[in-house]
Amino acid sequence: MVMLRAAEHGTAHEDCSLTTRPVVDQSHPKLNVLLAEDNPINRLLAQKLLQKQGHVVTLVNNGREALERWELNQSLQFDIILMDVQMPEMDGLQATADIRAKELVTGAHIPIIAVTAHAMKGDRERCLAAGMDGYISKPINPVELAATILAAFPGRPKLPNVPADPNPKPPSDAELLARFDGDGELLKELAGIFLQECPKMLDEIREALRTRDAKLLERAAHTLKGSVGNFALSGAWETAQRLELLAKSGEVSGAEDMFHTLEQQLAQFNQILVRHAAEPAHQSR
Ligand code: MN
Repeated sequence: MVMLRAAEHGTAHEDCSLTTRPVVDQSHPKLNVLLAEDNPINRLLAQKLLQKQGHVVTLVNNGREALERWELNQSLQFDIILMDVQMPEMDGLQATADIRAKELVTGAHIPIIAVTAHAMKGDRERCLAAGMDGYISKPINPVELAATILAAFPGRPKLPNVPADPNPKPPSDAELLARFDGDGELLKELAGIFLQECPKMLDEIREALRTRDAKLLERAAHTLKGSVGNFALSGAWETAQRLELLAKSGEVSGAEDMFHTLEQQLAQFNQILVRHAAEPAHQSR
């Protein structure tokens, strides 16, 4: 059944557990990507995601290989490097610092995106201090990957140009319940809290837009994204994510349209939650 549906759409090799559409967008630049990652499973996943987004990928296993490959291929020109942070032999921070040091001679600057398991606070700061241009956390989210790559090219469209789903499928009751381990009471309680908090979170985003405060916008969008994400990875989650990434790049212009979309998506999403919040107590208790 699943195979049949996937085959119809010509995406039989896609992960069928994900109901989201592929993230490919016509406006995506096709890039020559150098990917450094020591974990074979993470490497394969990142490679596949990048290829699905239309990029050509060269794989290396650690920072030293990345450095060597980058030096070797300077004539062939990689467009961007995706660099795992923790790797044996040479970690991503060291490799990046070495590349940046060598670039001082040529004046070139290849975008380097850190890929990290965001275990530690201050990770992002360390990556940026080492000369990296962007940062994504594992497990890699395809939408975030595409947006972060785009944001690493100052000359390209500033917006994380991930296509919005014109018809986001609302989460089914079963999907929502599954998020709460089948606990209807818990779903009801959290739906109520979310509905109470949602207007405040939107107010915060409004305030950030009004004062053109990118930092506040990033934080507010992140909070909303996290809250919505507890229920489902809906269209609203995706838009909040785009808003956050936009703000992270220091941009506020263009955010109004995204916010408008977010408001509409949340209005729909909240209707579903209202129903759950109002539902009479489930069998338990
Ligand atoms: Mn690693």
